[in-house]
Amino acid sequence: MYYVRYFDPWRSGLCTCPTKYSLNIYTGCDHSCIYCYITSYIPNAFQIRIKRDLIKKLRMDLKTIDKNRVISISNSSDPYPTVEKKLGITRRAIGILAQKRFKYQIITKSDIVVRDIDILEESRCCVATTITTLDEGVAGKLEPNAPSPKRRINALLKLHQKGIPVVLRIDPIIPFLNDAEIEQLVDRMSFVDHVVVSTFKPRFDSWSRFRSVFPDIAGRLEKLYFKSGRKIGNSWYLPRDMRLDLLRRAKNAVEAYGVSFGSCRENFYSHPSCDGTHLIE
Ligand code: SF4
Repeated sequence: MYYVRYFDPWRSGLCTCPTKYSLNIYTGCDHSCIYCYITSYIPNAFQIRIKRDLIKKLRMDLKTIDKNRVISISNSSDPYPTVEKKLGITRRAIGILAQKRFKYQIITKSDIVVRDIDILEESRCCVATTITTLDEGVAGKLEPNAPSPKRRINALLKLHQKGIPVVLRIDPIIPFLNDAEIEQLVDRMSFVDHVVVSTFKPRFDSWSRFRSVFPDIAGRLEKLYFKSGRKIGNSWYLPRDMRLDLLRRAKNAVEAYGVSFGSCRENFYSHPSCDGTHLIE
């Protein structure tokens, strides 16, 4: 396979994802979220690069892969970076997937996705959007180049109104920064079909960015992560009880609206799936 790969959650024992494929349309992502993990394995990760012959090679990959497995687009980039508006590579790629009836999930923070409603409506797909806060000021520091939370919510609402299954990701939940907003976020987005949550799991590089942008909060978190917490793989996890309390709170908030709940890389309750791919028919 050229660009479609088996999804590899870094062999994390805490990942509960169904078997699926991963397709990154672009290399890198210019949303530049300070908590992003791709900087730990992609050089110049916040610079977008175009993949050579993506469409041609995607067509070749599709001849060899299992049509019943979902293609996750994307886990190490956003399929709708700023240049996508001009280039339309993601549009062409999902057009092919729709035509050939492959199942796929879009994961994006961009409202450019609304441009492709015509294709999404004809697809076996769902669309997931991450919203970490309703506070535009905090979002501007956390996700400096991503569209505002308001634009993301409007985009997801438009997709929902067209009958496209939509997923909210509250990812990451960061104690002292956005944990107080869990219920409010769920309430604002209660129209979605599924909610995925995940606690902040800093790595060396994401932690140093976080510390420089939010030094006071980092000071409060330091002991929790690096003394009472646990390192799993290359990521630091919150102390178990605190982590599970946050996840339980989120689950209760979500289920109060009759919406299904999943958690990402937490090995915590998820039903019917952790990532929302059960929505794809
Ligand atoms: S949108 Fe996702 S891939 Fe892009 S910088 Fe933010 S966290 Fe990283």
